[in-house]
Amino acid sequence: MDDHANKVLDPVCGMTVDPASARFHADHDGTTYHFCSAGCERKFRAEPARYAATDHPAHSNPAALESASPAPAGTIYTCPMHPEIRQDHPGACPICGMALEPLMPSEDESNPELEDFSRRFWWTLPLSIAAFILAMAGHRLPIDASTRTWIELALSAPVVLWAGAPFFVRCVRSIRSGHLNMWTLIGIGVGAAFGYSLVATLLPGVFPASYIEHGRIGVYFEAAAVIVSLTLLGQLLELRARSKTSAAIRALLGLSPKTAR
Ligand SMILES: [Zn+2]
Ligand SMILES: [Zn+2]
Repeated sequence: MDDHANKVLDPVCGMTVDPASARFHADHDGTTYHFCSAGCERKFRAEPARYAATDHPAHSNPAALESASPAPAGTIYTCPMHPEIRQDHPGACPICGMALEPLMPSEDESNPELEDFSRRFWWTLPLSIAAFILAMAGHRLPIDASTRTWIELALSAPVVLWAGAPFFVRCVRSIRSGHLNMWTLIGIGVGAAFGYSLVATLLPGVFPASYIEHGRIGVYFEAAAVIVSLTLLGQLLELRARSKTSAAIRALLGLSPKTAR
């Protein structure tokens, strides 16, 4: 690993930048801030107070990073795809939105994001499956069309609004930072499908009669729910593969002698 002692954090997106080679700078309150890109500099100049706030410790003083980091000393988190991202607490990568990994696998095996995502996935999977079956085969059931729409709304709302909530957070973050990624796409896609269907359910009168199919305005609740469930499944598989790799590295570390003879 190269020495990051002379690097500072871009206060907008959280990337590390080298002040010596950075081409984008701005002064605020007597401190010079450095940026990864013209986009980040522009955002900073528009609202310097917001980004210069204290939630980015050590943006100008690398020594403060050491003292500010919490007790399990010096655990640095990085993105598997963007090694330039380095921060002293877990979170999502500001560029691609992936969960950050500890640079050195720690002793304890728990992975809070994996636990959180598997809870969201398993609790809402039955709802997604039910919404999907109802949307595909509901017209054969003795339920009238508008009741079916409301049931699909009730089934998919917890999936999209609760299980999918972290995706929307990442989507908003990617748009704010200007680093568009997979989450921008998923957030906008799921949001559009769910939002449109919600309007079609609450205010069916605003749509022209040609939108009516099988006795109701076509809705896409099941599509939104299934996308969220599949995305969660993909995240689970990825996080599990990553935690297995960490476990293998831990096992290797365990084989190294504790003391030199
Ligand atoms: Zn930046
Ligand atoms: Zn990344």
